[in-house]
Amino acid sequence: MRTEILGASREGTERAKEYILEGGVVAFHTETVYGLGANAFNDDAVQKIFALKGRPADNPLIAHVHRDYDISSLVDYVPDYAVLLRKAFLPGPLTMVYPSSGKVSKFVSCGLNTLAIRVPSSVTAQKFLKTVNLPIAAPSANRSKHVSPVTAMHVYDDFKNEIPLILDGGSCEGGIESTVLDCTGDDPVVLREGLVTQEMIASVTGRCFVYEKKAGERPKSPGMAYKHYAPQCATAYFSIEELERALGKYREEKERGGRPFFLAESGIANELSKKSINVFPLGDTDEEMAQNLYAQLRRAEKQASLLICLEPTVCGGVMAGVMNRLKRAFGIGTEED
Ligand code: AMP
Ligand code: MG
Repeated sequence: MRTEILGASREGTERAKEYILEGGVVAFHTETVYGLGANAFNDDAVQKIFALKGRPADNPLIAHVHRDYDISSLVDYVPDYAVLLRKAFLPGPLTMVYPSSGKVSKFVSCGLNTLAIRVPSSVTAQKFLKTVNLPIAAPSANRSKHVSPVTAMHVYDDFKNEIPLILDGGSCEGGIESTVLDCTGDDPVVLREGLVTQEMIASVTGRCFVYEKKAGERPKSPGMAYKHYAPQCATAYFSIEELERALGKYREEKERGGRPFFLAESGIANELSKKSINVFPLGDTDEEMAQNLYAQLRRAEKQASLLICLEPTVCGGVMAGVMNRLKRAFGIGTEED
């Protein structure tokens, strides 16, 4: 199989529709990261996603629909606060988890009685979803545990000649995955932090909680248990107070003949680069860091033998989501520690 990369022209979306109706898997641009999609009603097609990614069988997928798709047949009920949130944030980077009606393939939610639904705002994604007019089950279009893809080339690097088509919409402006919000209870609960923050949700609904997994409990958002987003090079992680130790590690790697790099917020990265130290700058603001994180991790794994992260000092906004991804990329606080 040869992988084609096409824009969301008529040719691109019609070709995507053919592949989806045949039970195939197609990658597509969204405003968060690229997705790897299949017909959510088709068991075999959904299972292909797990096989392609090497994804654990207990890590559920999100059903993506176009902005006019009637989700009432897919879910048992939509609470009033979810109606408000849909109006406020959709289409956009907010995934909402509902009690499932059981209509989509059981492999989408990995046996859970809930279904995660997202309405992406990306023009490419909308054209694709409108053309197929089906719920498309899709996780991020990377091999399991690898860094999420934010360009068509990142998808190509992971799935070259294993999928027929990548719908290219350019770089993903959001840069980290959607917020996952549990809408099955009396109040909304953030299961995975992302570009729509707890504060933004609470400003609409009055109350919003963030889920905290208790020791030994199966996480409510199963994907959150895994080490994830990892670049394929050696890594180290230091707080800014540990800069001297981090520099020691850098020198050690250099003396060994390796190619060490720092990953740090741009202010610090610029200071380091003045001293001829190799750096990947993350950006200055929370939103810039979200946008740059995966692209820099993908660049780093191609160039660095050791990537040393200096923990960003910026707080607020989407930093909760950024810090969650960053720590998991560096294996900090994950279950496989
Ligand atoms: P990915 O798009 O690769 O980040 O994967 C989708 C993520 O959505 C999963 O890892 C889960 O964290 C979350 N998710 C999908 N379906 C559900 C569900 N029914 N309940 C809770 N979380 C879900
Ligand atoms: Mg993923």
